[in-house]
Amino acid sequence: MNNGLVFVISGPSGSGKGTVVEILRKIYSKVGVAVSATSRLPREGELEGVNYYYKTREQFEELIRNGDVLEYTEYNGNYYGTLKSEAERITAEGRDIILEIEVDGGSQIKKLLGEQCVTIMLIAPDADEQERRLRGRGTESEEVILGRLARAREEMMEAVKYDYVVVNETGKSEECAETIVSIMKAEHQTSRRMSKYINDYFD
Ligand code: 5GP
Repeated sequence: MNNGLVFVISGPSGSGKGTVVEILRKIYSKVGVAVSATSRLPREGELEGVNYYYKTREQFEELIRNGDVLEYTEYNGNYYGTLKSEAERITAEGRDIILEIEVDGGSQIKKLLGEQCVTIMLIAPDADEQERRLRGRGTESEEVILGRLARAREEMMEAVKYDYVVVNETGKSEECAETIVSIMKAEHQTSRRMSKYINDYFD
């Protein structure tokens, strides 16, 4: 996968991840965001090929059978998965990739790619604020909301396994995105990743 790094960005529902990733796309154009496949229905305003590639369960299962997904999981009764074709398209351009995926997928990618993968967990300042944000979207049934809250609690438990944990303070999505860009840039400069450059310095 070239020299590009793969940044997994996870965040429980209500962490404000969607907004932050949208800002990231704008302020760090060198990065490509891989569009996932899902079997959930589009929310109002979501677009095919922009937010997700929308599939039926059967179509998704065919993607799995054909080995077209790098990882996948079931979340709240729907499939979500990273398409190989998306990852290949972005890495072919030599760019970094952002995968905005949940923790199960994140750990699959980390296992698959090892050091080429950096994991970042985005969290709300506290549980009350997280629930407020989740409900604020106003597009889902109580049942779905409760399912997402339960899952969010589980995902928070996984935060310690991530390389970075970034708090998305209320009203400060821009700052949060800037922090993530700093992390992304710094990750390219670690002595481990710069070792070839150092070795070749006097040649
Ligand atoms: P939503 O329904 O809110 O768009 O997404 C639900 C969860 O699925 C979010 O945590 C989102 O990050 C995650 N997700 C989106 N795409 C993928 C994917 O390709 N793989 C995995 N494992 N999770 C994903």
